[in-house]
This record gives sequence, structure tokens and C-alpha cells, in this order.
Amino acid sequence: MDYKVTLIPGDGIGPEIVREACKVLDKVGAVYGHNFQYTEILMGGCSIDACGVPLTDEAIAIAKSGDSVLLGAVGGNVGQSNWYQLPPNLRPEAGLLKIRKELGLFCNLRPAVLFRQLKNACPLKDELIGDGFDFLVVRELTGGVYFGPRETKVENGIRKAVDTMPYDENEIRRIAKWAFDVAMKRNKKVCSVDKANVLDTSRLWRQVVKEVAAEYPEVELTDMLVDNCAMQMVKDPRQFDVVLTENMFGDILSDEASMVTGSIGMLSSASLGETKLGLYEPSHGSAPDIAGQNKANPIATILSAAMMLRYSFDLMEEADKIEEAINKVLDQGYRTIDIMSEGCTLIGTKEMGDLIAAQIV
Ligand code: NAD
Repeated sequence: MDYKVTLIPGDGIGPEIVREACKVLDKVGAVYGHNFQYTEILMGGCSIDACGVPLTDEAIAIAKSGDSVLLGAVGGNVGQSNWYQLPPNLRPEAGLLKIRKELGLFCNLRPAVLFRQLKNACPLKDELIGDGFDFLVVRELTGGVYFGPRETKVENGIRKAVDTMPYDENEIRRIAKWAFDVAMKRNKKVCSVDKANVLDTSRLWRQVVKEVAAEYPEVELTDMLVDNCAMQMVKDPRQFDVVLTENMFGDILSDEASMVTGSIGMLSSASLGETKLGLYEPSHGSAPDIAGQNKANPIATILSAAMMLRYSFDLMEEADKIEEAINKVLDQGYRTIDIMSEGCTLIGTKEMGDLIAAQIV
């Protein structure tokens, strides 16, 4: 089968890590008989340099016409690069916001997986993590307090600011459906996180999530207050499978979830909408400090490509194969510098991509 993948190498380490992800995808294609056709577009600082804006309308049209988008990272050294002298809507990261909006991506998936080979990097005690954990935060991406009406004013000489957190039932229902669909492909457990003891939006959230749950009798639903969830993630991360939550809570919890794994170069993510077209990218940035030095860990991007196979193309076996290949290479003791530990073999970006691709047979 043919799949049209739009590539956004972006800035910094972006081109290096995307190259390795394509190497792995091509190997999957050769073994399983798929054809991944790539079209590259510019986004971020490289687009500012070439076209004067972080993302052109032509680039957006190309992304919309493909089946999926794989992104490296955008942005430069914030203190030094001229890109950051520009107004905020013309800076590299504005391209990211624009493409998410244009593609209608309202669902963000952030896996928190502790690879057993990297247990040393986890800041939690051994007895809390056992053999490791594997859960997924499903975050609503386009509603809530980040997009609600806001105001800053002076009233009777006192400065005052107001943000509001609106959600309607349709916004809640569509993200809840994503969470339950994803749970069906995993361990069939959804923990819905809110602040229903205080917020009206959370009470509506709970009701609508329950209604959606009724359509998925195989999936077990629990509710948890967000403050408790923040504690549970460090106390007993193994209890979670899919964590479903609104935008701001998800922003905070997904970062917490990533950090309990301890390894920034291993964290993938996906943003999805109503259709199968998704945007897949590592959770880390463009790491300008190590760009062009063959030092970047490509695994987060390769895992993002595996997510693309699973969620946009329904290629479950192929996605599992990539994850198995990564595990094998880690078992053999190969490490990039960010995950290096004593007794392991230090390798570069390209070598990591080669070794992972070689395991796909
Ligand atoms: P960063 O994630 O780029 O880097 C933080 C630290 O982690 C650095 O020391 C870096 O070398 C290291 N690191 C990151 N990814 C790595 C990898 N794959 N392998 C090995 N080491 C890795 O965060 P930052 O330094 O705060 O941001 C740099 C630039 O990236 C900024 O311009 C920022 O705006 C941008 N950024 C982009 C995205 C995105 O494109 N989605 C996300 C976050 C930050």
C-alpha cells in the first residue's frame, strides 16, 4: 500500500532525526510491502530564512493533501538567534501552532514509557517502578482556558486579569472518543482526570465522559481529581493505562508523565483530529547545542513514526515491530549520549538509526 508522508525536518537536530526515522520506515516498507512517499516542507526558522514566514500557505496545502505529517523540531537558540527578534507570530514556533490549527488537531497523545533498560534514568525508586510502566496521556488541545475569553483591565485603580475555561459537550465527546478508541488498542482502561469538586466544566466533563464510556463496555473508566493524579503519577505510575484530560491539566500532567521516564530523547507524541491525518513528533525541541554533530538520540522520532503507523495507518504489527527493534538495540547496550550509562556502547544518531533498521526483518 502507498502512504503519503509529509516530512518537516525543521531546525537544529530536526533533519538528522527525521532522516533516521525515514530509514526505519523504509525498512518497514521493504519488509512488509508498503511504499512511504515523502514530500518535504519547510517550517520554523528554515522557513523564515527562505520565505520570510515560519509556515507558508503552500506548505500547509501540501500537508493537508498527504496522509500524515512527521516533524523533527523547530526553533533555534532563543538567546542568540535573530529569529527571536521577530514578533511572536513570525517566530519559528508560530509555525507549529499554525499547522496544528490548520489540520484541526484537537487530540494530543503523549506516551510515558519507561524502557526497562533505562531504569537508571527514572527519578523514582525501584520499588515504585517495578519492571517499568507504559501509559498514555490523552490531552484536549484546542479548548479550555488557553482559548477561552480573557481580559486584563484596571478597576478602581486595581489591576485585574480574567481567564475563562469554556468547554461544550461536543468538544468533550470527541476527545473522550479518541481516549476510548486508543484504550481499545491498549489495556482497556481510561482514567478521566478533572477538578469536578470545584469546576463546572469538570462536572460537565465527567457526565459526557460517562456517556461516551457507555459505548465502550469493554473499557474500564475511573475518575480522578487532577491534584490526586499529579501525586499518583509519581507514587504509582503503573496503575495508569490511558489518562484522559482537558487542555491545561493535560499540559502539566503530560510533562510530569514524561519526566518520570527521565529520558527526553525517548519521548514521542502525536496530535490528531477528526480524520486519520495526524502530526507526529518527538516531545523534545531542536537541541541547537548538539545540532549537526551526530549526537542526537533519534529514538523519540522513530517512536513517533511507529505511532503514525499505529494511529494514522492502522499498521499495528509494523508499529510493534519498530518498538521491538528499539528494545533489542537497547538490550544490546547501544546508547546515544543522552541515555549513556556505564558499561554501554556510545554511538551516534546515524548508527542508532542503522541498528534499529537492521533489527526489522
Ligand atoms: P530541547 O528539548 O531542544 O533541549 C533541551 C536539552 O535536551 C538540550 O541539552 C538538548 O541537547 C537535549 N536534547 C533534546 N533532544 C535531544 C535528543 N533527541 N537527543 C539528545 N539530547 C537531546 O529544549 P530547549 O533547549 O529548551 O529548546 C531548543 C529549541 O527548541 C527552542 O528554540 C525551543 O523553542 C524549541 N522547541 C521546539 C519544540 C518543537 O519543535 N516541538 C519543542 C520544544 C522546544
